[in-house]
Amino acid sequence: MGNCRTLCIAGNWKMNKTAAEAKAMINELTSMVADINDTDIVLCPTFTALTAAVDAAAGTHIAIGAQNVHWAENGAFTGEISADMLKEAGVEYVIIGHSERRQYFGETDETVNRRLNAALAAGLKPIVCVGESLEDREGNKTEDVVGTQVTGSLAGLTDEQMEGVIVAYEPVWAIGTGKVATPQQAQDTHAFIRGKLAELFSEDTAAKVRIQYGGSVKASNAAELLGQEDIDGALVGGASLTAADFAGILTNRPRNCCQCG
Ligand code: PEP
Repeated sequence: MGNCRTLCIAGNWKMNKTAAEAKAMINELTSMVADINDTDIVLCPTFTALTAAVDAAAGTHIAIGAQNVHWAENGAFTGEISADMLKEAGVEYVIIGHSERRQYFGETDETVNRRLNAALAAGLKPIVCVGESLEDREGNKTEDVVGTQVTGSLAGLTDEQMEGVIVAYEPVWAIGTGKVATPQQAQDTHAFIRGKLAELFSEDTAAKVRIQYGGSVKASNAAELLGQEDIDGALVGGASLTAADFAGILTNRPRNCCQCG
């Protein structure tokens, strides 16, 4: 028997797909996932494809997310985007602190926390990413690194705010590499994150927070990963780029116990 947290499967398109390509893929996906009503389905296109994606997803079960948000309401921050701008575009979710942003764009736990506060204030649903490098894992530092990221990224949130945040555990060594964490490795770190959330917030809040796994998720490994007690969804990169691959993950997921009794 699993838990009663609604699964959330999100696709991170990274710097892929024009507005026209986004629209075509969403149109194709819509009929493939029409029967799935027990899972939150999210697609995160680039900024220029957001409006087209929101329009294409209107009236479907698919929600649209952005890949970043700035902490300021407006101002001299070339290349950034505000939470209100995303809201105006019809965006519901936002990925914050993806490892590529931490690695290539100097994102830190402090900037993640600032972005997170702005997203929450605007009513966006944040997906906050954490995860260790291969060096960290091989040096037995996974819990230290992930624990520090969780504590710093989520600092100062109230329990109520935390309940609206999704945490994505994405071991950096598994992103885009084809190397997937074993279900047990993923479950162990998810359970560790949930324990850390219980220390930082209440047990009740920790039990409600959804924790996604990310790192080379595809249709063939989704069911086993998503069947783990503390894995409440997936953040998917490569396999979210075609409707067939993404729908394969959605149709291979286990059903929520709340639906199946
Ligand atoms: C990601 O970018 O968040 C990701 C998990 O990528 P991939 O599924 O391609 O490993």
